[in-house]
Amino acid sequence: MTGKSAKRRHKLARERKNRTKKVCPIHAIELKYAPRTNTDFWVCPEPGCEIGCGGGTTSTPCDAETDRLRQRAHAALDPLWKNKTPFHSRDAAYAWLAGVLGIAERDCHVGYFTADQCRAVLKAVRTLTTP
Ligand SMILES: [Zn+2]
Repeated sequence: MTGKSAKRRHKLARERKNRTKKVCPIHAIELKYAPRTNTDFWVCPEPGCEIGCGGGTTSTPCDAETDRLRQRAHAALDPLWKNKTPFHSRDAAYAWLAGVLGIAERDCHVGYFTADQCRAVLKAVRTLTTP
């Protein structure tokens, strides 16, 4: 029964991810749980530190600037496949993006991207959508 074992593998991977602690990349200390309206959120307890991290398994802690760029990158990417043009599916859009960034498709999540990668995404989307 491959279906069942695939499901189990998925569950184990998810549990492993959930155990991974969210750590500030600047201060190397664990982020503190500080939920925002309707969403899980973690912040660095060091005063003045802008590092934060959303919930889910496909986002890593980042500073406020990177967070803004990730939101812009997401907003730029979504219409490329939600409107079925030029990509017919999310997978197709992210396969293209992984090629542009030179990364593996499994690592291709906006929540993982650095500020520079987000800027590369915005530029690539502009190039793609400008006639
Ligand atoms: Zn910090």
